[in-house]
Amino acid sequence: MEFLKSQRLDNLKYEIRGATYQKALELESQGFKIHNLNIGNPAPFGFNSPDEIVHDLILNIRNAQGYTDSRGLFSARKAVMHHTQTLGIQGVEINDIFIGNGVSELILLSMQALLNPGDEILVPSPDYPLWTTAIALSGGKPVHYVCDEQSDWNPDLYDMESKITPRTKGIVLINPNNPTGAVYEKDVLENIARMAERHGLIIFSDEIYDQILYDGAKHYPMGTLVGETLCVSYGGLSKNYRSAGFRGGWMILSGAKLKAKSYLEGILLLATLRLCANVPTQYAIQTALGGHQSIKDLVVENGRLHKQMNLVYDRLVSIPGISCVKPKGSLYVFPKIDLKKFGLQNDEKFVYELLCEQKVLVVPGTGFNYITDDHFRIVFLPTVDELNQALDKLEYFLESRQVS
Ligand code: PLP
Repeated sequence: MEFLKSQRLDNLKYEIRGATYQKALELESQGFKIHNLNIGNPAPFGFNSPDEIVHDLILNIRNAQGYTDSRGLFSARKAVMHHTQTLGIQGVEINDIFIGNGVSELILLSMQALLNPGDEILVPSPDYPLWTTAIALSGGKPVHYVCDEQSDWNPDLYDMESKITPRTKGIVLINPNNPTGAVYEKDVLENIARMAERHGLIIFSDEIYDQILYDGAKHYPMGTLVGETLCVSYGGLSKNYRSAGFRGGWMILSGAKLKAKSYLEGILLLATLRLCANVPTQYAIQTALGGHQSIKDLVVENGRLHKQMNLVYDRLVSIPGISCVKPKGSLYVFPKIDLKKFGLQNDEKFVYELLCEQKVLVVPGTGFNYITDDHFRIVFLPTVDELNQALDKLEYFLESRQVS
């Protein structure tokens, strides 16, 4: 008898490492060089973990042999708590902070602790797909609200509110955004906070890119804007601190915590079941948050990331048939492609054919649960030289396909 996967996994996907990525691995194993513009993983592109963090991991490895408290190491949580005070998030106590094996684990944990079958969570479209998947895997129903390309990928607040039902439990925000690069203005966030209050919803604010900002963009932590609403915010080492492989993240509860006693018990129960997050990395959190080794030097004008972002944006918008909103934050652009002009069927086919013919790997927009199939995501972590090579190949591919 064949062993079948759980039906709970039906329709779940993570396209960033999905079928096209598997094809890229196959091509690589045949000796082809692939231009990997697909994963937001800074270190392999020369964005190394700061020495201070590596040093602290090594120094503390002997102290890190045992389990810690399930919420996390005291020094790590204290550092996150001080960080909330610097950011201006009020009233966060040490037990309102959970350390996890990356934000990924904490997203899954916070959805599993909350949702009953049929409960709904509002998620952006496009989204970071783990959110949609985590909700579905927890028995909930992801309901997508539209982020509007015409208004710099800001959330469409009318669409968001129109999708609230008696089963809605919360709203997910990703700010700065993956995959669009949007950074939301204060008034947009305040309107969402008031909407959550009106409807009694929790806000889940994924702020993992909060220091990766370009051209003067400002990030407003959602925890500073909520009042009578529970806010769960997420941050971590993977992006701001170029340490994705160390798997370290944190989750902060702020706002109307008193209304969420049972939910918090649920979160703690799940945290205890997995014992604790990986301990060596927990020692590095204090160093990361206390030091000067964030990604800031790389995002300022003419910093490495800023240059790469500008290059990709400028080159993309110079290609007839491609349009694109300039990113204000994060590591991604989410261009639109005129499928008809190039005789392409949809985003998935485009991405697959681009990989097979030109060995350039990007991710289709529908992999981010986007409503139309004419977008794709590019990661601008590779060097200017490599980005230029990849964009030459993209241009060549599109020129060769042009039908009108
Ligand atoms: N949230 C967003 C928006 C992301 O883009 C990512 C990774 O790309 C994550 C969460 C997961 O991060 P971590 O490495 O902390 O698990």
